[in-house]
Amino acid sequence: MQKLTNPTDIARETLKLLTTRRLVPTPDNYQKLYQEISGAGGDVATGIEPALQKIFKDVVKNAPGLKQPVHLLEKAFSEKNWVEFEHAFSALASGTGVAGSAKGSWGTLIKELLKQWELKHSGITSKRKREGVDRVLANFSADSAALQEKLGALVRSWSEMPKQSGIEMDDSLADAEVGKPESKTIESKSEVPRQSRSEDQLAGIIKGDAKSYLQELLVQSLELGVMPRLSHFPELMGEAGKLAKQAREARDELAFQGLAKDLKQFWFKLEVRGESDSEVLAGIMSLLRLLVDNVGELVIDDQWLHGQVAVIQEIIAQPLDTRSLFDAERSFKEVIYKQSALKHSLNDAKTTLKNMLTTFVDRLGELSESTDGYHSKIEGYSTKISQTEDILQLNKILEELLADTKGMQLDVMRSRDELIEARKQVESAEQKIIKLEVELDEVSELVREDQLTGTLNRRGMDDAFEREIARSDRVKSSLSVAVLDVDHFKRLNDSLGHQAGDEALIHLVRVVKEALRPMDTIARYGGEEFVIILPDTPVEEAVKVMTRVQRELTKKFFLHKNERVLITFSAGIAERLPDEGVESLIGRADKAVYVAKEAGRNRVEVA
Ligand code: GH3
Ligand code: MG
Ligand code: MG
Repeated sequence: MQKLTNPTDIARETLKLLTTRRLVPTPDNYQKLYQEISGAGGDVATGIEPALQKIFKDVVKNAPGLKQPVHLLEKAFSEKNWVEFEHAFSALASGTGVAGSAKGSWGTLIKELLKQWELKHSGITSKRKREGVDRVLANFSADSAALQEKLGALVRSWSEMPKQSGIEMDDSLADAEVGKPESKTIESKSEVPRQSRSEDQLAGIIKGDAKSYLQELLVQSLELGVMPRLSHFPELMGEAGKLAKQAREARDELAFQGLAKDLKQFWFKLEVRGESDSEVLAGIMSLLRLLVDNVGELVIDDQWLHGQVAVIQEIIAQPLDTRSLFDAERSFKEVIYKQSALKHSLNDAKTTLKNMLTTFVDRLGELSESTDGYHSKIEGYSTKISQTEDILQLNKILEELLADTKGMQLDVMRSRDELIEARKQVESAEQKIIKLEVELDEVSELVREDQLTGTLNRRGMDDAFEREIARSDRVKSSLSVAVLDVDHFKRLNDSLGHQAGDEALIHLVRVVKEALRPMDTIARYGGEEFVIILPDTPVEEAVKVMTRVQRELTKKFFLHKNERVLITFSAGIAERLPDEGVESLIGRADKAVYVAKEAGRNRVEVA
């Protein structure tokens, strides 16, 4: 083949040859063929191999310590493993000049340096470590081998120092410490004598950003999580505030150790406080229970308090739950407000009655006084009459007597009228009082009613169920229950507003109540879900009732701003099985509601 000299031609020919020989186009193959075509020689290694072998031998002879890296280099060379070759070469290069002392590469040294830098050592701060490194760099950076050796020695000297646990010191502490590092570390060590391995590891993690992040989290936990919960304990709250400040300002190890100590003490106090809080709560609860039970006994006939006492008994019989407390508070407020208004009227009525009775008694007294007066007068007249013989004189006495008798008759009649009038007023006052008392009883029952719709609430529903189930068991009659869920109520709320949603519920309940039979009971089960108790009703009958209710609702539109809005509901019906509990009964009806919804809504399904 004619020898090519132009590099472009050689390159083109090389590529052609790679294809015809079906060689993989690796740089090696390309190079081989290129040299073959250009005649620049065969294997790249062949020319330099003997020379290299000689160099390797000389190196090992002069520096026996390098035998191992040189061997690696030779091996990589003979295997043409250029990646390995490069590693071995840089390892060797970094080791030359320090021959015997060369213990490893720069990589190993840097790794070790980082490790020892991160570890805390007694008597040496980060700042001092940095000063050491700066000094070595300033003196030896011109000579790589010397630099490696000195740095190696420096790092080794750190590693030989006793390790210290805790959080790593930062420069501000280092600044403060320069004078007497030993005493400070000893002092801090004695405060925290033994720390666990995990704390050691933590110290490793808590560095830089992570450390200040955790620090900030601690501050926030104290300020936002702990302090607001201590408003009843100003002293502890103040302490938490101080700790937050301490945590925010902590910069050095001492400060952190102090903080840790104070935090531990603080937790301890909190724990003690928490324990006594629970005891106080338990004490208050048992006092309340005693009181309520006693009041319950005392007011057996007093309907005014009955509802409220029953509710409190119910609440404290179970683990405290904020929702039921909140519900009870709301209905209590309502009841208390109405009862106090009624009590005022009742007191007024009682005062009126008292005044009237007083007048009545006064009048009776006056009457008996005046009749007493007449009595003595009449006695006087009878004496006069018996002693007088003179007819003229008698006539005069008789005239006087008649006049007095007339006056007496008038007096008596007036008193009689007044007495009748007073009795009427007393009777009407009594009527008013009875009416007010009945109203008070009814108001007390409000704790069982839903405030928005006037249906029974959950509590009222439970009572109604208890009654109806007992009755159905007693007389062996069937009992059905319907669960009703308004269709797409969220949509109605979203389009017309929550207020309209509320009004729609009130409308729905009115229509449903009208369509139900007098014996049926409706209770609000949840937001737009109602439970209807249908006593003496087998399931087929219940379906009829509910379908009628449904029809009524589609006839009686809900009017919103004079617009007709159609409200529909889906209902599930279940008939109570022998001995079945309320929960299971409602559960089955509820599942049927789901089926009704799935089937397209505005339907009644049987469980
Ligand atoms: P579905 O047909 O599947 O029952 O649809 P829905 O939108 O009725 O069902 P969902 O249960 O998801 O929504 C009920 C909505 O009823 C959610 C809540 O905002 C609303 N809601 C619950 N209680 C009240 C209330 O007292 N007043 C008003 N206005 N809205 C209520
Ligand atoms: Mg619902
Ligand atoms: Mg709904």
